[in-house]
Amino acid sequence: MKAGQWDAQNKKVVINDIPIPELGKDQLLVKIKSASLCHSDLMSLARGHGDTVTMGHEGAGVIEKIHSSAEGKGFKVGDAIGFNYFINVCYECDGCQIHNSRCENTNLPMCQGFHTNGFFQEYVLVDYHTAVVLPPEIDVRRASPLFCAGITAFNAIDSCELHPGQWIAIVGCGGLGQYAVQYAKAMQYNVIGVDISDDSLDSAKEYGADAVFNSKTQADTYVDEIRKLSGKGVHAAAVFSGANAAFDGAIPLLRTNGLLMVVGIALEPLQINTLDLITGRYRIKADSTGVPRRMSKAVAFTAKNNIQLNVDFRKIEDLPAMVDDMKNGKARQRQVVTFD
Ligand SMILES: [Zn+2]
Ligand SMILES: [Zn+2]
Repeated sequence: MKAGQWDAQNKKVVINDIPIPELGKDQLLVKIKSASLCHSDLMSLARGHGDTVTMGHEGAGVIEKIHSSAEGKGFKVGDAIGFNYFINVCYECDGCQIHNSRCENTNLPMCQGFHTNGFFQEYVLVDYHTAVVLPPEIDVRRASPLFCAGITAFNAIDSCELHPGQWIAIVGCGGLGQYAVQYAKAMQYNVIGVDISDDSLDSAKEYGADAVFNSKTQADTYVDEIRKLSGKGVHAAAVFSGANAAFDGAIPLLRTNGLLMVVGIALEPLQINTLDLITGRYRIKADSTGVPRRMSKAVAFTAKNNIQLNVDFRKIEDLPAMVDDMKNGKARQRQVVTFD
């Protein structure tokens, strides 16, 4: 079968022929129906040592085979499933209830697509603990971005615990932000998109944002405008960008005791004034893709509200070009590889 891999020695994306993998304990063999490129895949491209591994941590597909140890766990051959990408963890300990990178029973948690083969290949091995059956409303061929960007965005917006009619700013309107706008609208919040790219802001509008602001070209006015529009400032600002400036810029948008929801991975430590926290100027929470057992809530909400991203369908042979487009900021929509 074909696999889109990162050749660390030669530092390039290559398409290799590799064998279909053999089922092991707790595993499902899945035929990939969609696998999508995510910004965090670019992090693995910095790696110039180690094995050649198949890229991709966003996948969805159909079960072909089930290992005997994974029988009776709620899956059957032919089921369309989506899945998370943390393996070599126990899924049971206290750490695994918070985040699988905190597993107390392994010293080597691994992410498929980074440390070991990921999902840009025709057949993949999936640990049943990480998988969830897709409801019929969700099209498996478009579902892969849901299992990183979508779940993360849902968790973050859900954890803001707002009420219908309250205001939320989505700071960073790329793939995650585009999901976040849809989830926030489906939860009946008033949604303001903030980004430095007009293309991303146009997408945010298409997905339902009530207002959008360019924090670069409208730098002198957007904070005042957002504070005026939302009454006294937004009730929550969810930052999906990893730029420190995005976090710094989100705080002034918040009303008293508003919530800064941290999702983006900032390159530098944030400047936090503890007096602001003590006196309730604002609060801070953070969220992520979370643990597999949280996925069902996100998947059910997604199906009920028909939430999805516009995607471009590509072939596995296109992976090197997809990576180049993403690096150069030319990929406006999620790029999804199919194998049919
Ligand atoms: Zn991702
Ligand atoms: Zn564990």
